[in-house]
Amino acid sequence: MSETKRARTFGVNNFKKIPQIEQYLTPDQIEAIEVVGNVLPFKVNTYVVDELIEWDNVPNDPIFVLTFPQKEMLSPEHFSRVQHALKENLPKGELKEIVNEIRMDLNPHPAGQMEMNVPEVDGYKLTGIQHKYRETMLFFPNQGQTCHSYCTFCFRWPQFVGIDELRFAMKESELMVKYLKEHPEITDVLFTGGDPMIMSTKQLESYVLPIIEQVPHVQTIRFGSKALSYWPYRFTHERDSEELLALFRKIQEAGKHVAFMAHFNHPQELKTDALKEAVATLRENGVQIRTQSPIMRNINDSSDAWAKMWKEQVRLGMIPYYMFLARDTGAQDYFAVPLVRAWGIFKKAYEQVSGIARTVRGPSMSAEPGKVQILGETEINGEKVLGLRFIQGRNPEWVHKPFFAEYDEKAIWLDDLKPAFNQDEFFFEADYNAMKEEAMQELEIAE
Ligand SMILES: *Cc1c(COP(=O)(O)O)cnc(C)c1O
Ligand code: SF4
Repeated sequence: MSETKRARTFGVNNFKKIPQIEQYLTPDQIEAIEVVGNVLPFKVNTYVVDELIEWDNVPNDPIFVLTFPQKEMLSPEHFSRVQHALKENLPKGELKEIVNEIRMDLNPHPAGQMEMNVPEVDGYKLTGIQHKYRETMLFFPNQGQTCHSYCTFCFRWPQFVGIDELRFAMKESELMVKYLKEHPEITDVLFTGGDPMIMSTKQLESYVLPIIEQVPHVQTIRFGSKALSYWPYRFTHERDSEELLALFRKIQEAGKHVAFMAHFNHPQELKTDALKEAVATLRENGVQIRTQSPIMRNINDSSDAWAKMWKEQVRLGMIPYYMFLARDTGAQDYFAVPLVRAWGIFKKAYEQVSGIARTVRGPSMSAEPGKVQILGETEINGEKVLGLRFIQGRNPEWVHKPFFAEYDEKAIWLDDLKPAFNQDEFFFEADYNAMKEEAMQELEIAE
C-alpha cells in the first residue's frame, strides 16, 4: 500500500480559502454560498474540489451543485433574512435564532418516520435502528453520523446541523445484537448514516463482529456509503484501509455477503483513477458493489447522464440498483423532478442499456407506506393513468401488485396522487391506516 492520504475539508467558515472560489465565482455567488451555508449543512473536501468538480463549468457543474449550497435552495424570503443578518453583522445569538426558525420551516422530519419505525428492546427505544421492511434492519451507528462531503439535497441534514434531538443514532452494538436475535426474519443489516465509512475500521469492527459472531440468520451485511465518490482513498490509502478490507473478507469467511450500496449521482464521479482503483480493490476483496442515486433537477435530470452512469458502473463491475425520487424535505423545490418526468428520464436511459444494466429499478419513492415505483403512463378504457407498484411495503403482501393513479404531470410525491377509476382510496390505504392507528395507540400507552 502506498502513502497515506488525508483530505482537507471546508465549510461555511473557511470555503473562501479554496483557491478556485475566487478564481471562478463572482462576489454575489460567493455571498450566496455563505448565506445558504449558514442554514443548510455545507462540507466539501479537497478530493471533490480538485478531482471531481469541473470548474470551467461552474456554476452549472453537477458536482458543484451537488456539494456547494445554491441560492435557490432557500425561498427568497428566507434568503434575504439571512443575507440581512450577515450584512448587519447581527450578534451570533440573533443569527442563530433566525437560522433555527428557517430550519424548522423546512420540515426536518417527514411525517411517520419518527412514530412508526423506532423499535424497542427491553423497553428501551432503539433510536439508532429503523426496521420498516421485514427482512432488512437499518442501523445508524453513532460515530457514522457525518460524511466526507455533504450533498446539498440530503434529507438527513437535521442530523448534521444538530437540531435533531431524536437523532437516528445509537451507541451500543449490544442492544442491536439483542434486537437481531429477537428477530429471526431479518436477513439484512444495512449500515447507514451519514456515511458508515467515515468510521475507523476499529469502530466498524465493534458493530460488525458481534453480528457475524452471534447472529447466524443475518446473511447480508450492507454498507450504504458515498465514500467511493467523495473519498475513494478510504479503501486504498488510509492508515487502516488494509484492516477494512480484512474486515470485509472476514464477513465473507463467516458465510455472509458484503453488499456495498454505493451512492453516485453523476458519471463525473466515476472518472478518476482513485475511484477506479478503489472499486477494483473492493472487488478483489469479494465486495459486491450496487449503485443508487436520487434523480435531482440541476444535477442529473437527463437520460444521457443516467445511461452513461449505468454503463460506466457496469464496465467497472458495479450493479445498478435504484433510482430514487427526491423526498419532501429540505430544498425539495429546487431539486424535485415530477414523477411523470422522472419516469420519462428513467425510460429513455433504460432504453439505451443492455440487460446487464437493467438490474436498476425506479424511479422509486421512499414514501411512508413503502417504496413505490412509477411503472409509467398508459391508457385504460380511455383514461390516462399512471401505473405504480410497491418494491417494498410495510406489509410485504402489498409488494409487486400493479395499481393505478390518475395521470398527473405535476405530482412529485405519493400524497399528490389520486386513485384512478374514481376509487376512493388506493388498495393499501385501509390496511396502512390501521397500522398507523395501532402505532399511535402503542405510543400513547408508552407515554
Ligand atoms: C430502501 C430501504 C431498505 C432496503 O430496501 P431494499 O429494497 O432491500 O434495498 C430498508 N429499509 C428502509 C427503511 C429503506 O428505505
Ligand atoms: S453522502 Fe448520503 S448521508 Fe451524506 S450528505 Fe450525501 S446523501 Fe446525505
